[in-house]
Amino acid sequence: MPPMALALHDEGETTSELTSHGIEHNLPTASQPSIAELDASRLITTLTTQNRSVPKLGSKEIASQKIATDHMITARWTVESGWDAPELRPYGPLSLMPTASCLHYATECFEGMKLYRGFDGKLRLFRPELNCMRMLKSTTRIALPAFNPDELLKLVAKLCATDGAKWLPKERKGHFLYIRPTMIATDSALGVERPKEALLYVMLVFFPPMDNAARGIKLLASQDDMVRAWPGGFGYAKVGANYGPSLVAQGEARRMGYDQILWLFGPEGWVTEAGASNFFVVWRTKEGKLQLITSDLDEKIVLDGITRKSVLQLAAARLVPGYEGLEPLEIVERKFTMREVEEAIEEGRLVEAFASGTAWFIGAIGQVHFRGKDLKIPMGKKEGEMGAYTTLIKGWLRGIMWGEEEMKTHEWGFVVDEE
Ligand SMILES: *Cc1c(COP(=O)(O)O)cnc(C)c1O
Repeated sequence: MPPMALALHDEGETTSELTSHGIEHNLPTASQPSIAELDASRLITTLTTQNRSVPKLGSKEIASQKIATDHMITARWTVESGWDAPELRPYGPLSLMPTASCLHYATECFEGMKLYRGFDGKLRLFRPELNCMRMLKSTTRIALPAFNPDELLKLVAKLCATDGAKWLPKERKGHFLYIRPTMIATDSALGVERPKEALLYVMLVFFPPMDNAARGIKLLASQDDMVRAWPGGFGYAKVGANYGPSLVAQGEARRMGYDQILWLFGPEGWVTEAGASNFFVVWRTKEGKLQLITSDLDEKIVLDGITRKSVLQLAAARLVPGYEGLEPLEIVERKFTMREVEEAIEEGRLVEAFASGTAWFIGAIGQVHFRGKDLKIPMGKKEGEMGAYTTLIKGWLRGIMWGEEEMKTHEWGFVVDEE
């Protein structure tokens, strides 16, 4: 334990908030003012000499999710000297010792963002400063080093600016590349302890378009023997440890013909999230009020999705007052149970449901399997259509992300200046 932590403890610090205090002590300014900060202006650039070709739209390569663009960003950190100068260099394998901390103790976290080729020809990110801040939340939760999120954003933007023109060309309007900022502990000491070395890296990867709109997403509600996250855990952080252990359940769901798991929590069966997406329901209460409801974030078991936040903000601004003849609704963030959802379906009060996240975007839910019953969730009036509220919200977000007409200058769209 560093001397500083001991000193704090002597001054009467309680042991009841280990996580929050531990995170505070991870922030560099508090304990080690002299080590180097992450600094995008020190970027060292080495451009590739290979002539790789861009995969065709709809190709097997794109579907494989293994193809990255020409370059990646890397930045090394050590406890002694802080952050080295970041590098933009050819995309390729990393070199790690077999004893590296991340390979044993899940000292790994990541972000998921997209680079959008707008209908107006511009490249955009969507609220990327929020991803960079969340990445800091995740790193500090698992004893990885802190950094200035603004510097990470500059590095992400630089990579997009460098590779965007070739790998997401102007003809590919309405398409995207997936951006994966990652941090791993590279410390080769095998002891179970706070890592003294880490690597931050960012790459741009091809993803197939994900569109479940026509039939609606089919969810399998988790059983009592499976929990994704728990109070006091780390469900709120995008740490690898949340995802690996969920893959068995996800595999079973797929095998049974469902797209994803709807994660319930606790004996009451609180509805938390759908796979790696947040979950929304539009329903009418028994008293007849129309509500858009999603789980709150209080227990830190639900990930604070940027799409979720954006849906709530757009709904508050546009749906609460009533939009072009649509019935106004109220927004509720609280715990709700799968029994409540089931009851609303049985009583004809469920209006629509959707999942929200960067990967799936806004996906209408068509069905949830819960304790032996397939519950059908209403969608649009015509076959293959999404519900009215889902359609509106998805359209607004798409407009901002891809710079459609009046949304071109929306403050959530971050335009990348290409090189
Ligand atoms: C990434 C993620 C989401 C969605 O977050 P966005 O910021 O909207 O992409 C939701 N739930 C989980 C568990 C996630 O990992």
